Parts: sequence; structure tokens; C-alpha cells
Amino acid sequence: MNLLNQPTISNNGIVRPTYAEIDLRRLTANYRAIQQHVAPANVLAVLKANAYGHGLVEVAHHLARLGVPYLGVAVLEEGILLRECGITTPILVMGGILGNQIPLFLQHDLTITASSVEKLTQIDATAAEMGKLARVHLKIDTGMERIGVHYYSAESLLETAVNATHCHIEGIYSHFANSDAADLSYSQLQLGRFQQVLAFYEKRGLPAPPLRHIANSGAILQLPESHLDMVRAGILLYGVYPSPEAARTVPVQPALSWKSRVVYFKVIQPGHPVSYGSTWQSDHMVRAVTVPVGYGDGYFRAMSGKAQVIIRGKRYPVVGRICMDQVVVNIEWDSAYNGDEVILLGEAENGVAIRCEELAAWAGTIPYEILTNINTRISRVYIT
Ligand SMILES: *Cc1c(COP(=O)(O)O)cnc(C)c1O
Repeated sequence: MNLLNQPTISNNGIVRPTYAEIDLRRLTANYRAIQQHVAPANVLAVLKANAYGHGLVEVAHHLARLGVPYLGVAVLEEGILLRECGITTPILVMGGILGNQIPLFLQHDLTITASSVEKLTQIDATAAEMGKLARVHLKIDTGMERIGVHYYSAESLLETAVNATHCHIEGIYSHFANSDAADLSYSQLQLGRFQQVLAFYEKRGLPAPPLRHIANSGAILQLPESHLDMVRAGILLYGVYPSPEAARTVPVQPALSWKSRVVYFKVIQPGHPVSYGSTWQSDHMVRAVTVPVGYGDGYFRAMSGKAQVIIRGKRYPVVGRICMDQVVVNIEWDSAYNGDEVILLGEAENGVAIRCEELAAWAGTIPYEILTNINTRISRVYIT
């Protein structure tokens, strides 16, 4: 019924040999490392897009058990799914309110992002009608130009909030555009604008401002003065750094590995091209294996001619075009057998590793898209 809750593909309990393995112990360690780094600020764990591919519901349950004080999702459906699965931790829906969704937010006790005076007025009126107190975070645009009221005209939103008697204005936040860059001048500018907006509370002689938050992974690492009351940890929580240039001030380790198995072994004669388009052939006899993963699982076709995998602790190239469901790996004259483990992303016992950043470089994208692109055909297996 729910796009976010599709069952994984399995057949009488026999699961396809291609799966993602999520090490919940690493998730715990990453969370604790971030928490320690930002203390006394709190950590909101960002779980949008199926928890960056790690599995929304399982990750939420795990973090709830750890006592994470706040969860964040992008869209209403993600929040409702978590409530239906019994998650009682506060959940901030960071995207906008679409159409007439406000009653659903209130029914499921989801924290609403108010990004304009009109929306806030609508939230207040709906809460009054339903006899509820809406939990609200105000969204200030300090330089992302996505959603939120502009910092230079935020005062009307803050005034409206003071008078919204059916809203609990619990937080106020903004979002950085470049906090993972080496040059932090634009982030400094954004932080300054945010602080200017927050000065409203003191100017008006109001009690302390609500929960202030602006830091994403880049700012958690690089901009300690932006940690304020809470930080919103996304990719860093999953053990991946947001960009190559971001300072690695918090030690984290990737929680997700992507694995498969050898399902076919053959010898390829010289001059016999491999896969669609016949783009690759060897000038000498090679051994090759077929692995059941492809772009239909989220293994980007754009990585054709560049991707490598690990078999028996050694890296080998994927040759020819990546198909929808299968790839061919050239193992030259080494040995491999049907059933051997193939690591697409992750590390072998001898320390040889393929990182998210490498897949991103091969595909011409960023690690975020590698993780969120691993789709529902891949079952998630959890290590505790
Ligand atoms: C996705 C998102 C985050 C987390 O970003 P990371 O770079 O993954 O840490 C934080 N805040 C908002 C509003 C987001 O949309």
C-alpha cells in the first residue's frame, strides 16, 4: 500500500544473494561520536530517503532505543510510516506542507515546518478546529533559496508565531548551502543572518528563543559555532563524510556494505566482447565471473568501464556495460568459485575496501546519491 513500505524481494525465505548489510554497531558509534562532538547541543537524526538507503523503520527503531531525542524526515509519508510502526520519538518533517496535509500532521503528532506567515496561520486555524496544539518549527531562509521565509523579512513570521495560540513554537531553523566546502565564508554569512533573525526574541523582551538549529553534517564537522541547541546529522551519522574537502573532525565509519555472490564462472576468448554494445574485449584469454547486480538495483550504469568489486580480498574491474540485473567481472587468471562473496561497497577482512566516495566518482555523482539509489530490490540485513 505504501511506496515507502515495499516488501523486499524474497522467495519462500530464500533471499537473493545481493543485499545490503547494515552494521547497527557502527551506527551507534557514529551517533555517539557526533553527540560527543556537539555537546551540549542535541542531535536530530535525519532519516529521509529510507534513512539514506539504510532502512527507515529499522534505523528509527535502533536510534529510538539509543535515546536519540529527535528524528527528521523530508516528507509526511515518512513520518506517518514511523508513527504506524510505533516510533514515539519527536519527528520533524523538514519539507513543506503540500495541499491539505495539516490535519494528518496533527493526527500523527508530527512536527510541522512553517515556512511562511500564510502556512503558520493555516496551521494555527486547523489546530484550533481540531482542538490540538500543533508542534511547529519555523523555517528561515538564510541563503539556500529553497523553502523558508527570507531572513530579511522573517520578523512577520516570528510575530505571527508569538500570537499563534494553538501552536507550540518549539524550534526555529535554517539550512546551509555550502557547509561541506573548504571555503566557509558563505556559511558564516548564513549563520550571521540566522543570528540576526534570532535577535528578535531579545529585542522583543521575549523569553529565550525556541530550539535553534542550522548545522547539517558539513557544519557539524567544520563550524562548531553553528551547533546552537541542536544539529541535524544526516550522511555523517551513516559514516560517510559529506565531501572530500570537509574537515574530518569526527571519526565515523560507514555502516552500510553492499554485497553479492559469484553466480557464474567462464573463460573468455580474446576478441570476444562482453555485454551490450560490445564495448570491452580482451586481447588475451581471461577468466570472468558474473554477479547478479545491476542498474535495476541502483548500481549506476554510468559506472560502466570504471567500477571495481572485491572478490577474495582483491579488487577486480567490472568489464563491459553494466546491465539491469547483472555485471561481468574480469579476474584475469585468478581463481573464483560460484558462491564466492563479492563486495560492491565495503571492506574485506584483509582491509581492502571500496568506499562510497569511489562509487560516486565512478558514477559522476555524490555519495548521498549512491546510498539513496540502492533500491527496494535489495534486501537489508542488519548486524547487531
Ligand atoms: C538532508 C538534510 C539534512 C542533513 O544533511 P546532511 O548533509 O546529510 O547532514 C539536514 N537538514 C535538512 C533540512 C535536510 O534536508
